[in-house]
Amino acid sequence: MKISIIGGGIGGLTTAIALKQKGFEVEIFEQYKEIKKAGSGINLAINAMQIYKRLGIYDEIASLGSYTNALFISDEKFNILSEIKLLKTEQEFKTKAFAIHRAVLHTILVNKLDGVKIHLNKKLKSLSQTNNEVIFDFEDGTTYSSNILIGADGIHSVVRKSIIDNTELRMAKQVCWRGIVKTAISNKYETELNELWGKGKRFGFVKINKNEVYWYALTNYKIDYKVEFSNANLEELFSNFSPVVKQIISKTEKRNIIFNEMMDLKPMSSWHHKNVCLIGDASHATTPNLGQGACQAIETAFVIAECLSTENNINLAFEKLEKIRKKNVKKVINTSWIVGKIAHLNNRIGIFLRNNIMKLIPKKITEKQSTSLYKLNY
Ligand SMILES: Cc1cc2nc3c(=O)[nH]c(=O)nc-3n(C[C@H](O)[C@H](O)[C@H](O)COP(=O)(O)OP(=O)(O)OC[C@H]3O[C@@H](n4cnc5c(N)ncnc54)[C@H](O)[C@@H]3O)c2cc1C
Repeated sequence: MKISIIGGGIGGLTTAIALKQKGFEVEIFEQYKEIKKAGSGINLAINAMQIYKRLGIYDEIASLGSYTNALFISDEKFNILSEIKLLKTEQEFKTKAFAIHRAVLHTILVNKLDGVKIHLNKKLKSLSQTNNEVIFDFEDGTTYSSNILIGADGIHSVVRKSIIDNTELRMAKQVCWRGIVKTAISNKYETELNELWGKGKRFGFVKINKNEVYWYALTNYKIDYKVEFSNANLEELFSNFSPVVKQIISKTEKRNIIFNEMMDLKPMSSWHHKNVCLIGDASHATTPNLGQGACQAIETAFVIAECLSTENNINLAFEKLEKIRKKNVKKVINTSWIVGKIAHLNNRIGIFLRNNIMKLIPKKITEKQSTSLYKLNY
């Protein structure tokens, strides 16, 4: 059976690795002329790292990434509001969390493809289906066919638009800048992910290897972010934050900063139609507030390979995938949306209440919530 994957992002690459390990004939089609060398970092939480352990990729990520054992949320002056230590979760799942440069992760994944063919410069245009074949056309005029097509083509998925109507992208009314900086931050942040929540703004940073720090900065926008932030001066925008923030921003090469609008995909009732199925951001894009978008894509990638290898009927395999994954993914999407709204409160009374309530929540409860996020149900 031949399985074709549209999209060579984290989701598509992980799916290809998992399927290849199950013995399927797999190929990937990617729109760009090379697999993305994205210039930012990514947090791979304990759920994703459990999958990479099962796929035999854990050790390489651990050696090229940076170990993270605690998540701190503070106010803009670095007064701690909430902390999650991961030690107990690590022990429970025998796995650790890592932050890593996205380009390094992509290289690790590509090197694990084990002969999977990657067709580059192939931008999907449209597809059609018969009962046991999917035929798909690319912008360059070429046409291919396969027994199964997996859409791993991201939040603006062409595959999704071809098989499912009425899906909804929801704008969070927030924008995000991301950067990587070679800078010395205090040793005390060595294994921590820190987020500072201010007034309608947030700044996070984490080490991704011995020499580099990955950071992200978000703020609300009112009507048109392109007008409001086309010439944004980040140092000024975050000038009332701790000096650590200013130090990180000022040392970053400005031309390498990535700027995006934040959005998600309203949870969908189905991810498949006949022999076509969606995974990752194509089916369950979430806002980045829990750092779980790619982690969820990695989980779905693993489960789709499991389902296809244990079910003879393709439709039953896709239904099983949804049964295993949809509930958890929906919870992540909705929780992340709410966390984003709470993190970006913009009025002083709301912020005062939020900060004081957060300080009162027992660590046991926040740690229990995070542990439940990392538990695999398969
Ligand atoms: C600011 C920010 C921070 C984040 N931080 C984290 C984090 O710390 N941890 C985490 O787990 N997640 C994080 N995420 C989410 C994560 O980046 C995504 O969920 C993840 O990259 C999705 O992977 P994917 O492979 O499904 O989609 P994508 O990464 O979007 O990959 C899709 C691929 O398909 C290709 N493609 C698209 N259209 C076509 C086409 N028509 N034909 C052929 N190819 C096509 C694209 O070129 C791309 O290579 C963050 C997201 C943002 C915006």
